[in-house]
Amino acid sequence: MRVAGVTSVENRGIPIEKQHHLWIGYLVFGLLSIVVYYALPIFVGTVPLRVVVYCAVSTSAALAVWWGVRRNKPDPRAPWTVLGVGQLIAALADTTFYASHYVLNETNYPSLADVFYLGHYPLVVVGLLMLIRQRRAARDLPSLLDAASLTVVAGLLSWVFVIGPQTRLGTPMLVEMTSLAYPSMDLVLLLVSLRLLFGGGRRDVSFMLLTFWLAATLAADTVYVLQRLSVSYAAGNFLDAVWLTGNLALGACALHPSMGRIAQAVDVPALRLSWPRLGFLSAGALIGPVMLVVQHAHGVRRDVPVIAAGCAVLFALTATRLAGLIVDQRSLAITDSLTGLRSRRYFEARLADEVARARRAGRPLGVVILDVDRFKSINDRFGHPAGDRVLVEVANRLRAVAGPDRVLARYGGEEFALIATGVDAENLHRLAERLRHGVAHHPIAVSGRRSMTVTLSAGTAAFAPHYGTASALVSAADRALYLAKDLGRDRAVAGGTSLTEHREDVAVDYLNQVADLVDLRVASPGRSLAIAEWARTVAEHLKRDPGEIRTAHRAGRLLDVGMIVLPDDLLTESGPLTDQQWHLLQEHPDSGARMVRVLPDHGEVAEVIRQHHERWDGAGYPAGLTRENIRIEARILSVCDAWAAMRADRPHRRALTHEQAVRELRSGRGARFDPALVDAFLTLLDKRAVGDLTAGPGSPVSRESSRLS
Ligand code: GH3
Ligand code: MG
Ligand code: MG
Repeated sequence: MRVAGVTSVENRGIPIEKQHHLWIGYLVFGLLSIVVYYALPIFVGTVPLRVVVYCAVSTSAALAVWWGVRRNKPDPRAPWTVLGVGQLIAALADTTFYASHYVLNETNYPSLADVFYLGHYPLVVVGLLMLIRQRRAARDLPSLLDAASLTVVAGLLSWVFVIGPQTRLGTPMLVEMTSLAYPSMDLVLLLVSLRLLFGGGRRDVSFMLLTFWLAATLAADTVYVLQRLSVSYAAGNFLDAVWLTGNLALGACALHPSMGRIAQAVDVPALRLSWPRLGFLSAGALIGPVMLVVQHAHGVRRDVPVIAAGCAVLFALTATRLAGLIVDQRSLAITDSLTGLRSRRYFEARLADEVARARRAGRPLGVVILDVDRFKSINDRFGHPAGDRVLVEVANRLRAVAGPDRVLARYGGEEFALIATGVDAENLHRLAERLRHGVAHHPIAVSGRRSMTVTLSAGTAAFAPHYGTASALVSAADRALYLAKDLGRDRAVAGGTSLTEHREDVAVDYLNQVADLVDLRVASPGRSLAIAEWARTVAEHLKRDPGEIRTAHRAGRLLDVGMIVLPDDLLTESGPLTDQQWHLLQEHPDSGARMVRVLPDHGEVAEVIRQHHERWDGAGYPAGLTRENIRIEARILSVCDAWAAMRADRPHRRALTHEQAVRELRSGRGARFDPALVDAFLTLLDKRAVGDLTAGPGSPVSRESSRLS
């Protein structure tokens, strides 16, 4: 055998005493026997000798399985015993068939041989199922769905070309049932074979040989059934070579030293939905419609119900498969791959929601951030993989303490973060201590027999109801964590939760609430949030610098806070304003600017608010500024504000239609508004990026919280 070099590579991982080439010898001898099988009639012409050769080869496969089990000692043996018995029955079927065919000259169909042939299928199926179970204990729905899809396709083809025609032949019941049993059994075998092939697990030489056996058997069976149907089958034709080679592959598979590993559970993931597999499945799914078209072209209708039913089943399988993929993708996106905890992205999104919820309900909320102490030294001493194992163990222990319902995330490399809903400052500190002790209470195995105690430092921050933001909460916990590190590590420190700590956030929050109140008073809830979003969108569209974009957005939100002091009758006035009312109204940009200016870093925002009623042509108020003397953010807001006013119903008038409002904007181009900004707004309006008072990333509250996080 000139294949020593190849086998030495293939046999990697197989103990030396097990490395043998018996399987090659068996294959070569078997293939030579097949040559002899076809050559015999030419040279000798004796049929009985031929039958002996055929039956010897098929029986040898059963014996090879028996011998392979003895020699390779697979664990468990049961699947191989079942497969071996199955092959023995197949060999018995061959012997019976050829004996009656050639020796007794009986060509009855069905015969005793058919009972044996059909009887061997269930054993093969059961043996394969046992192997599949061993290879991966976990359920593998995607592989089953893919296998089922392709089997349905094969079933459709089988119905149109084999089963359907068979049922129309009008043959005696027994003949018909036998003829239908073969393709049906083959479909079951195909389903199980594809499931084995698609599922995860090792693919050694023995696995390939097993696959070859199944492929050869299925292919030869299919051609056999077709030939029987067209009455072109002749015993001893080329199909015997395919069947026999398949049998040899089974025998060689059992003899191969790697056979024991076929049933070995290894954590090799199932083949993913690769492009070729997707293409294969899609092409398969198209066969149904193609058959319908072909039948339609031939004016044949009889198979339509079956093909339609097959397509429906395929559709259901595909939809289930897609649903599974979506679920997988979603969980991948929110899961940390190393520890299985939630990802940082998920943590941040959830925290923003929880803050909004806690604010509405006036409930406490806490955040704990934990960081492994001196983790770098674990990596340095034991290596990165050992560090990874420690992280996984730390995560598991934290999870055990936190419980399944709390959001626990891997926040950074060796940092973890937890959201504690409904937990006040005092209990939060206790929770942080429990988390820390849950990890440090006994050592973690690092490498080999070495284990070490791993400690964590923690920072906590409790959210005081009605004020505070997601980002303030995380910053406070983070600062507390740094303090814990500074104080010597292995401790939890409670972050500042006092009002002074959040002074700035509280003031911003307060003014946001004033803005909401003004929106309610002018009967346009969510208006200032919408204007802020549009202003940001327009500024981004114009590629303004980040500072201007931020200022436009902030100023949009607080644009009309100055209106809070206006009397109700002025806001709901339907007739023309009196001089005094007009004077009062014109004061709101100044009042708003004064209110906003007290916030730290809000000087520019205040100035923009002051200018938002200035006009391009200089006829605005309060200062009568013209053109570029008006800040760009104020010019943007002027357009956004006008659009919001025109598109909302007011107590004294209905909203303008979209077209009317567009016309109004155009007519103010170069007079009331900066023409370039009208153009930019209209462009974005066309793309539906701005202008909808009701749209946006959620309710006013969730928008607010997402901005603040
Ligand atoms: P301190 O007590 O101050 O937190 O000390 P430290 O060493 O834990 O902190 P530092 O932030 O300096 O080091 C963190 C280390 O964590 C550095 C980085 O190599 C390691 N790390 C980050 N992510 C991973 C990871 O996924 N796996 C492993 N093994 N190490 C990681
Ligand atoms: Mg650390
Ligand atoms: Mg760190």
